[in-house]
Amino acid sequence: GSGIDATFVRRWLDLATTALDREADRLTELDSPIGDADHGSNMRRGFIAARTAVEQEPPETPGGVLVLVGRTLISTVGGASGPLYGTLLRKAGKELGEAETVGADRLRDALRAGVGGVAQLGGAAAGDKTMLDALLPALDALTGALDAGGSAAEVLASAASAAEEGAEATTPLRARKGRASYLGERSIGHQDPGATSAALLIGALAEAAG
Ligand code: ADP
Ligand code: MG
Ligand code: MG
Repeated sequence: GSGIDATFVRRWLDLATTALDREADRLTELDSPIGDADHGSNMRRGFIAARTAVEQEPPETPGGVLVLVGRTLISTVGGASGPLYGTLLRKAGKELGEAETVGADRLRDALRAGVGGVAQLGGAAAGDKTMLDALLPALDALTGALDAGGSAAEVLASAASAAEEGAEATTPLRARKGRASYLGERSIGHQDPGATSAALLIGALAEAAG
């Protein structure tokens, strides 16, 4: 492709919002047995608000769009996922700085910074049955595909399948962070809602590039 610019990030935002709107009921169903049955409505509300904010005053850089989306999520989504996804996107946006167009290598750096922010804020690690169990494999796959010389579309496609597999692999895990951790052993056998939404967000990134 011709690089990642503000238009690309806005295309991602549209695709992500559409996916979250379509999958909101499923995300909320996943949040029923191991949470409080609000993850789908949280994510849908936050992304619709973010899309509106970006449409009203469109930032000119990809980093600017990501920072605005992150800020909007923090202010409109209650619960754990708002501050965590808000931090992911704000940190990623800040990492891109003022650049108008970046390549997939800068996007990897941005994702790495964002994922680091999530880990720092939430204190979770790989295998704790959280959104990180989709985000960390996505970051690894993106990095591996970049090192192998893949195009932006190829590296984002491999990140998307790794995120999807990571989300599915949360089912047998026992939750160690967030509401689901209150259930202890009873959290086993259910796919994590936040890992599932994270896979949708990374999937939208691949779609935006495809
Ligand atoms: P809440 O649990 O406050 O109702 P949501 O239902 O919107 O918030 O989001 C729940 C998701 O947030 C979980 O499925 C999990 O992926 C993620 N999550 C919760 N706590 C953490 C944490 N400490 N670190 C990373 N992700 C977390
Ligand atoms: Mg919830
Ligand atoms: Mg809640």
